[in-house]
Amino acid sequence: MKEKAFGSLSASRISYGLAACVLVATLAYGQGAANAPADPPPAQAAAHETITPLDPPTVYVASGSTGSNNGIILGDDGVIVVDTGVSAASEKVEMEELSKITSKPVTTAIVTHSDGDHVNGLAVLPTGITIISQENCKKEMEAAESAPSRGPQATKPPLPTRTVAMKDSATIGGVEFQFLHVAPAHTSGDLIVYLPAQKIVFTGDIIADNSPYPIIHMEKNGSSEGWIQTVEAIVALDANTFVPGHGAVHTKADIEQRLASVKARRAQIQALVAQGKSLDEIKQELGEAAAPAPGGRGPRFPSFTEVVYGELTKKG
Ligand SMILES: [Zn+2]
Repeated sequence: MKEKAFGSLSASRISYGLAACVLVATLAYGQGAANAPADPPPAQAAAHETITPLDPPTVYVASGSTGSNNGIILGDDGVIVVDTGVSAASEKVEMEELSKITSKPVTTAIVTHSDGDHVNGLAVLPTGITIISQENCKKEMEAAESAPSRGPQATKPPLPTRTVAMKDSATIGGVEFQFLHVAPAHTSGDLIVYLPAQKIVFTGDIIADNSPYPIIHMEKNGSSEGWIQTVEAIVALDANTFVPGHGAVHTKADIEQRLASVKARRAQIQALVAQGKSLDEIKQELGEAAAPAPGGRGPRFPSFTEVVYGELTKKG
């Protein structure tokens, strides 16, 4: 039932999430931005934000104008958020919605990775709160801070105050959290956020509905092999609700299915590389036309096939 409620997310909201991701990619990954056509601003309707109960009265998910799924956990003395919106403005909309269900202040933010559509909203959260991330995520955020202009981002997000290497746990506001990093996957600094009592997992963009195969940020040292190891660890958790970085809530069966299809695809690419096929030949063989990705405007991340091919043919 819970999944159903959340699964009823309108298609327009989900595709907004996609638009935001592409836009953020433009902002955050600089180089391509100058010569790439600017995406039009996301639909005006995007100012809409919905907070959906997942395990009330403790766990909720916010989505809509934030561009990414954001966890909201109501602790005894404050609110813990998992990821934030794509911009300060979208985060303000989320905070307005949040004020309708609690008057408690946000005391802690946990970020699943360093992409702008998950961290930019940190800029408008109360100053001095605890911000938790994987240690490489913090490094990526520091690098982004010192990079020259990343676009019209008025306020830079504050940096994490507490980092996790591989595994950690904490009780925050009476709620038990476990944090897990397995290997570089979507980025080098992914952090899985697990609520054992509620059997809920926030996966960040390791799982996201915006692409049939995972998006691996090579520029942030992500890894397709690491993705498989990470998702195997996600599946092994005693949980039944999995909140992806974008899109509707997944069941364990959904995650298992995705894992199996990604493993099969990677094995297929590996076999074709072993036969000495070129990237173009492999794409052709896999039925990946040279046509742009659906909805395609603006820069795109390398496809899963391109990433795996690059990993397998890298010299040294
Ligand atoms: Zn994202």
